[in-house]
Amino acid sequence: MSNDKEAKIIGELLGVMFPDAHCELDYHNVYELSVAVILSAQTTDKAVNIVTPNLFAKYPTLESLANANASVVEALIARIGLAKTKAKNIIGFAKGVIEQFNGVIPQTIEELITLPGVGRKTANVIISEGYGVPGLAVDVHVTRVTNRLGLVDTPDPIKIEYALKEMYPKEVWHTMHHRFIFLGRNTCKAKNPLCDECLLKPYCKSQK
Ligand code: SF4
Repeated sequence: MSNDKEAKIIGELLGVMFPDAHCELDYHNVYELSVAVILSAQTTDKAVNIVTPNLFAKYPTLESLANANASVVEALIARIGLAKTKAKNIIGFAKGVIEQFNGVIPQTIEELITLPGVGRKTANVIISEGYGVPGLAVDVHVTRVTNRLGLVDTPDPIKIEYALKEMYPKEVWHTMHHRFIFLGRNTCKAKNPLCDECLLKPYCKSQK
């Protein structure tokens, strides 16, 4: 079977396994989404969702966050780890959007990655989740499951992003991102993947 055909079947089966795969960060607008995604680096969405209500209550807009005291922000997000760096990043992000983009969070990866705390993964989430622009973010789950499945053979998230974007049509990039993440979180776990429950087993390279 060709790689393209396998990728298509894997995509369809993932749709059966996780028809409701979606963003698990809580947010109400692109500002909150962007901050939440930056905060989610190296921690869980659940942990981010615990700190963001208080953070957004105190700083409800880009402007308020841009003028925030870093120590206060750090205290509000202390429980998610790397708080000092993340506080600096989200304040820097807010300032950058105001100073470089007239207060409007950009809709392109190229512009977004010029801002503090924003790499390609974060940028892809912001454009796809926030603006409905096709994007396919590659995080640790996407990296692990696509390698195990044999769709890619590299630990490099940028190479994986481009490879998956070649394999799948633009219209499903965002959905595939969420489905790979749900697979990684729920079935294809880092330790002890639940292969016997996985519909992808017949197509999974790690099982051959
Ligand atoms: S069969 Fe196992 S290793 Fe392969 S994708 Fe499913 S859970 Fe992961």
